[in-house]
Amino acid sequence: MSNKIGWIGLGKMGFPMANNLLKGGYSLYVYNRTSSKADALVNEGAVLAESIPVLCEESDIIFTMLSDDQAVKGAYLGEGGLLNGKVGGKLFINMSTVSPRTSAELQEMSEAVGARFLEAPVSGSVKPAEDGTLLILVGGTADDFRAAQPIFEKLGKMAVHLGSVGAGSSAKLAINYFLALTLQGLAETVLFAKQQGINAEDMLRIVNEGACGSAITKLKTPTIASNEYPTAFALKHMAKDLRLAREQGISFPLAGPLADTYKQALDDGLGDEDVMAIIKYLERS
Ligand code: NAP
Repeated sequence: MSNKIGWIGLGKMGFPMANNLLKGGYSLYVYNRTSSKADALVNEGAVLAESIPVLCEESDIIFTMLSDDQAVKGAYLGEGGLLNGKVGGKLFINMSTVSPRTSAELQEMSEAVGARFLEAPVSGSVKPAEDGTLLILVGGTADDFRAAQPIFEKLGKMAVHLGSVGAGSSAKLAINYFLALTLQGLAETVLFAKQQGINAEDMLRIVNEGACGSAITKLKTPTIASNEYPTAFALKHMAKDLRLAREQGISFPLAGPLADTYKQALDDGLGDEDVMAIIKYLERS
């Protein structure tokens, strides 16, 4: 197994994940649209590639951790894309959340030029990314999964091989549906209680000390209590994931209104705030 890794995308998630690979002893080429975000990694020994083709040439296993389908396709396709060079035998691993269809297209195009492709979106936010305790949801061949396992061990506490390409993305959209329901449920509960004269701190204590409390309600409690929403998982990404779930045909009673609410919050200018800022939208709408 080669130690030559290329990492594209140094956003909120990509940066700490790449950092864990560096700390884990891998030699790392990095690339980011905004190159200054690589500075701290370069100080620790990563090499900043001047372009995606250069990164690809220098690496055997290439990760992408970018915003959305469009950004990921941009990194793979076209003149400056990953698939435009000599890529025979290389393993591409996309960890961004994209649609199962985009994953399948990337697999097909990678294989057409002799490369291999795994999808490996993650569940867990910035803190698990920093701690190397993400859940990694993998779709692809068993051989490629085995090849990537030692690297996944540096990034997460568990990597699950769910089946062929598409399965990982589907599982990711499903778990984020639950997350969106939970966060909006928490927001509506706190706001309803407030309307009845119960303050937010008391209501959050009741939630967290009772059977409804969970890791995510506890994690988001301080942000609601202070009414400040520093971004861990941007609301725009959740709106994207709910849109993708809809495109996959989700049709349960709550699915449509849920996706609509996050989309409206996005249109209302809250996209770059943390997903928990959904409460701000609900409060003013
Ligand atoms: P982020 O902080 O917004 O970073 C996005 C990354 O994509 C940056 O490197 C950005 O480059 C790059 N990018 C965006 N548009 C681009 C374009 N058109 N061309 C080239 N590069 C582009 O996002 P994140 O929170 O790290 O999330 C990354 C992925 O993981 C998303 O798919 C998200 O849904 C998923 N995810 C996030 C979390 C979380 O808690 N944050 C958890 C699980 C999964 P610049 O630096 O130049 O802007």
